[in-house]
Amino acid sequence: MRTPIVAGNWKMNGSLELVASIAEAWQTAASELTDIEVVIFPPAVYLSAAQQAWQATQIKWGGQNLSEYAPGAYTGEIAAPMLQEMACQYVLLGHSERRSIYGETVAQITAKFMCAQAAGLRPILCVGETQEERDKGQTMAVISNQLIPILALGTDFLADVVIAYEPVWAIGTGLTATPEQAQAVHADIRKLVAEHAPNIAPELRILYGGSVKPNNAKELFAMADIDGGLIGGASLNADSFLQICRAAVECKA
Ligand code: PEP
Repeated sequence: MRTPIVAGNWKMNGSLELVASIAEAWQTAASELTDIEVVIFPPAVYLSAAQQAWQATQIKWGGQNLSEYAPGAYTGEIAAPMLQEMACQYVLLGHSERRSIYGETVAQITAKFMCAQAAGLRPILCVGETQEERDKGQTMAVISNQLIPILALGTDFLADVVIAYEPVWAIGTGLTATPEQAQAVHADIRKLVAEHAPNIAPELRILYGGSVKPNNAKELFAMADIDGGLIGGASLNADSFLQICRAAVECKA
């Protein structure tokens, strides 16, 4: 039985007010949201406030990124042990915005992955294809290139990993993969993982991300290999994020 995860990626959005409004919403909702994990990735400057506001709730928090280096002279960066000190349990790695805007390479992401594991952080590793790559039938080739270097690290590194399948064409666009399209890729990802690490594949949680909203969450989460979602825009409103969490509880309970 895979415990579903609903994760919110605030990106470079949010405020102290949003931290507080999430805490307030969860005070009344807590009893309904059993048997799922809820994780929010606020900008790093809000992690301390998040820790204070959310520590008495079920909500976990994490970093949106980390440095591939140990603490030292890297202005503007955040090292894995710093996230761990802020009681982060998760870290997002390889988000398509990190890959496309900041040029993060697979080698860099793999190095970050190892830093996360060394600090006891669970990576949510994002993978996914662009529209052009999908149109050319390259979806699984692209995902294999993103995943295989991580899978090659070996089972010891993979125990806590969560994968987020985020088709780039669906992120922030309002275009969602159909449940069938998403399920097909999730099943292929699980198969790929099984080829490299058969013992972790059945329990591996694979989240779908890309314009998940309260009105489409249920049909996506109902699919067999979709174990929750990574939510961008809709996580910036406590009520819509809560509705998406409820959808996961309903579909997976
Ligand atoms: C994301 O940024 O990971 C994401 C899925 O965004 P959105 O839900 O806004 O498409």
